[in-house]
Amino acid sequence: MTAHFMKRAALALALTLLAGLGLAAQIDPRAAIIERGAWEALNAGRARAAAEAFREALASDPKNARLHLGAGMAAALERRDQDAKDALERALALDPRLTPARTLLGQIQYRLGDFAGAIRTYETLISLAPDARDAQATLERWRRELELHDRMQQAIGSHFTVSFEGPAEAALAAEALEVLDRAYWRIGLLLGGTYPNQPVPVVLYTGEQFRDITRSPSWAAGAFDGIIRVPMRGALDNPKELDRVLSHEFTHALVRSLAPRGVPAWLNEGLATALEAGDLEWAEQQVQRQSKPIPLRALQAGFGRFTGDAAQLAYATSALAVRRLIEEAGGFAIANLLRDLGDGAEFDAAFLHRIQRSFAEFQAPLG
Ligand SMILES: [Zn+2]
Repeated sequence: MTAHFMKRAALALALTLLAGLGLAAQIDPRAAIIERGAWEALNAGRARAAAEAFREALASDPKNARLHLGAGMAAALERRDQDAKDALERALALDPRLTPARTLLGQIQYRLGDFAGAIRTYETLISLAPDARDAQATLERWRRELELHDRMQQAIGSHFTVSFEGPAEAALAAEALEVLDRAYWRIGLLLGGTYPNQPVPVVLYTGEQFRDITRSPSWAAGAFDGIIRVPMRGALDNPKELDRVLSHEFTHALVRSLAPRGVPAWLNEGLATALEAGDLEWAEQQVQRQSKPIPLRALQAGFGRFTGDAAQLAYATSALAVRRLIEEAGGFAIANLLRDLGDGAEFDAAFLHRIQRSFAEFQAPLG
């Protein structure tokens, strides 16, 4: 599974700020119209249009902290994390009390892997807004994570860095590195010879640490949010399961390196599930039991919101669709589709171009 927290948080923020916009003093009516359009685009999830509108608004009003915040939010939605960080820091330099900017800055620092920076940002946030209860809980979780990672050891391979807690897990970490390396070559080749351009960090947790840090649903066997995070319950006794989980999460890492944004959940999870070692008989059985198949359009957003049964069906449907896509178009075409989506191409147009048939037609067998 993958983390979609940022998108939800940013959209909720956009909504709040859009609602408050009417109260803000506006001097230039044209600038006001552009700004309103920018927030509305952000609120509708049209990050690119929002980014352009905020850029335009900033050209005539460069000292407006709220516009820098909007630019930062649009960049965050597009996963241009460094741009987002710069914009949010500019917003805070102009208005240190702009709490939403500091909240998002902390999330971006965390996503960039700067845990210490994220913690400092949230410490400041809480000192300025002591009643921010969500922020307090997040800060405590980040401190626990940093403290845990500080005491972890690392096994370093050419393509992965595996962190683990104690000597008891050293053998497991070595085993994980081997399994990951096999997945790296197998899956990279399946996607037309594409590989992540830098080593992928992997952290092995106990089941309890995993739930605490990732807040994943109870059915999740792994997570990817820039780091592959895996709970190690009984994994050594079951090499097949270890291979399955690591292959799945590695595929997410590979998808992210091709397309940091714009990938619908069915394609991302479908690839990760279809490229796990093992067959998809379970998925066929799952889907056959349903009287009515789920359309892929209903599987755009992350699966973390589903309960166990609904999640299984969503993964099964996605995996079978992607298997068909691989059979019909090949991994190379899919890798190109992902690259286009990452570059901001519109999904239906990119699909038609790379897969050589329309998405509607591809979906037709699903009813
Ligand atoms: Zn997944």
